[in-house]
Amino acid sequence: MKQALPKKFDIFEVEEKWQKKWEEMGVYHFDWKDKKRRTFSIDTPPPYPSGEFHMGLVLNWTYFDIVARYKRMRGYNVYFPQGWDCHGLPTEVEVEKRHGIKKTDLPPDEFRMLCEKLVGENIGAMKKAITNLGCSIDWTTEYKTMDPDYWRRTQLSFVLLHKKGFIYRGTHPVNWCPRCETAIADAEVEYETRTAQLHYINFRLEDGGFLTIATTRPELIPACVTVAVNPHDEHFKQYVGKEIHVPTTNRTVEVITDDLVDPDFGTGVVMICTYGDKADVKSVAKHKLPVISCIDEKGRMTQNAGKYAGMTTEEAKKAMIEDLKKEGLLEKIEPINQEVSVCWRCHTPIEILEKEQWFMKTRILSSQVEKNALEIMWYPDYMKYRLIDWAKSLEWDWVISRQRVFATPIPIWYCKKCNEIILAEPNWLPIDPRIENPRIDECPSCGSKEFKPERDVLDTWFDSSITCAVHAGWPDREDWRRLFPADVHPSGVDIIRTWAYYLMVRHLALFDEKPYKSCLINGMVLGTDGRSMHKSFGNYVASQEVFSKYGADATRQWVAGGGATGSDIPFRWPDVEYGWRFLIKLWNAARFVCNQLKDYEPKENVDYVLQPLDKWILSKTEKMMKKVTDALETCQFNITMEEIRNFTWHVFCDCYIEAVKDRLYKPDFYGKEKREAVQYTLYTVLYRILQLLAPITPHVTEEIYQIMYAEDKSHKSVHLSPWPTLDEKRIDEEAEKRGDLVMAVITGVRREKAEKRMPLNTQIKKLTIYAGGKDTAEIITEGREDISGTCKVANIEVLPKKGEGREIKPYSDIHFFAEY
Ligand SMILES: [Zn+2]
Ligand SMILES: [Zn+2]
Repeated sequence: MKQALPKKFDIFEVEEKWQKKWEEMGVYHFDWKDKKRRTFSIDTPPPYPSGEFHMGLVLNWTYFDIVARYKRMRGYNVYFPQGWDCHGLPTEVEVEKRHGIKKTDLPPDEFRMLCEKLVGENIGAMKKAITNLGCSIDWTTEYKTMDPDYWRRTQLSFVLLHKKGFIYRGTHPVNWCPRCETAIADAEVEYETRTAQLHYINFRLEDGGFLTIATTRPELIPACVTVAVNPHDEHFKQYVGKEIHVPTTNRTVEVITDDLVDPDFGTGVVMICTYGDKADVKSVAKHKLPVISCIDEKGRMTQNAGKYAGMTTEEAKKAMIEDLKKEGLLEKIEPINQEVSVCWRCHTPIEILEKEQWFMKTRILSSQVEKNALEIMWYPDYMKYRLIDWAKSLEWDWVISRQRVFATPIPIWYCKKCNEIILAEPNWLPIDPRIENPRIDECPSCGSKEFKPERDVLDTWFDSSITCAVHAGWPDREDWRRLFPADVHPSGVDIIRTWAYYLMVRHLALFDEKPYKSCLINGMVLGTDGRSMHKSFGNYVASQEVFSKYGADATRQWVAGGGATGSDIPFRWPDVEYGWRFLIKLWNAARFVCNQLKDYEPKENVDYVLQPLDKWILSKTEKMMKKVTDALETCQFNITMEEIRNFTWHVFCDCYIEAVKDRLYKPDFYGKEKREAVQYTLYTVLYRILQLLAPITPHVTEEIYQIMYAEDKSHKSVHLSPWPTLDEKRIDEEAEKRGDLVMAVITGVRREKAEKRMPLNTQIKKLTIYAGGKDTAEIITEGREDISGTCKVANIEVLPKKGEGREIKPYSDIHFFAEY
């Protein structure tokens, strides 16, 4: 070994160098032509380009990069693509904010250009962060969902699903965000507990008397279509079927029974409005009630609200309360804690509006979703129930149309005359119907030559829920099924109901096959205060800050070691710092080994004169390797991290290296063969350590590999070296038992010196060991050279009997006495 490791170790320099070189060397390119190696495909989620690669994303990407690197070393032809899920509301909102405009102020294509520009800038910043994290992505695969070429795929999937009968246009209640002015899917609705006011309002019965209803939304009274009581509530039986007057209107409605009414809520009498909540939607459908829409897309009252028309819902509520007071109909107001449905993006309470929208039939797939979820491997296993429970809980189909600008257009036109739906042909795609006409001469139904475009666009999830097929090369590559289903789909615990679910239903509907074979779930990153990490909580740490303090390899150790896969992981600076100190420990150990190997030539098939401690560490290395491999096979990264780091730090560096130094330094005394045995062992164990660590700390392991091993091992990169296989011959229980005992004696003596504040190289004139038995005495005697050498003992005496002195832990029968 000619080269030496420099004393100065600059992790930042090393990381930057290898990030560049790996790209130049094409280490991570998927080889489409290679038909020999098995493939392993990762369904990398295209992130939304917010511009900030936050610690949550660091967690996700480190997880699947560890998997990618491990599988590559296992001999797989790994496909690790990267795309960007560009469309969507947050970008529109940001563009509106930056330019002080509303999306409707500009023509759609001009607004779209502003969005594309912003997304482009954000992608640049995030790509840099992914590179800095050391992810082994094949960048030749990069794509953006806002590119026309990706539109083509999204639109094609729409056309195919429409032809298969999975897509329909219908008038149906939808979740609506009045702030964002768009329909949103169930998966985009979040729930917040807020304090509201419960109003007790008297409704006059036509034939005298009144019923008191309780509601948090008196402004919806103009949309009241019935008053309901529970059929089992004896108290109100006499009123069922009676006509009751709706306050502030000149309408009466019938009192009905509905078992959805909770007799314990409020007074037990409720008004059913179109729509206050999902329960209203159910009652309306069940009793075939009319729909009176009194709120518009912007959250203002419509003409149906009579005198309240034009007011915001808040203004209408106030005015309504005043009017009810004047008429003496307001009984009382009580505070109440209520679960409010809000928009996931802007946290505005959502309305339920009846709208004509495009839907995908997803509920008919629920049993198939369940069947496939049970077949898929989940890491951790219990996460499958999140998907199954979500699929089963859905009451509505997926509303896929959005009233936005920056999104994939729906490839549909309508005949101006007869309203016939014209669906684009696959060979017209990509197409924007708002700019281009359908490529037909006339309406197939009525012969009219005039068409109007569908102005609604597709939900962003409609873009990103076909990635398993798109990554595999669909629809262009004939051999796309080679990489489909994806071997692993990584997902966050918070997006199982969106990403994992939509992928499942889209691919099942399109190809009648599940999209992924396994699902790797990560938890959330928590701040140091235990709450989820968020800018508004003041516990936010930017990934660039972490990278610039300790580098990527240290950060990745925090991810891997931070907690069980799927659980929430707190961000802790000390964990990252510990990772950084480990890198220095590893570097210094490697430097030491490198210096000691200057005169060592790695040779095959040589019988080295291995000493007990050499056999001891070689056996332990094999066992550790097996544990690490098993943990990686089941995506238990924290176990991987603990095993390898503890072994390297405490077993290899603190014990073995210290115990063999004397043998290395004094070949004349011990004999050249015994030194060679140490050299061989150091060379072998360090290589194993580097390989096993490579998926977690890719930079430092590559640097050491290239200096110390590349010439001999002749792999282009440590990341292309074959994962070690278990060498059963090296596992030696007897050697481990013996080595453990010898190491315990060495550690015990060194500890005594440390406690007596003596330098570790202080001479011991005589060391007497009371072994407490013949067998142990024999083992210690065999290891006496290593003990004397390491502990600087002039004269060592091993006695089989029990005796006084300091105990050798954990062997309570063994004691020693040292004379200095
Ligand atoms: Zn919103
Ligand atoms: Zn027509």
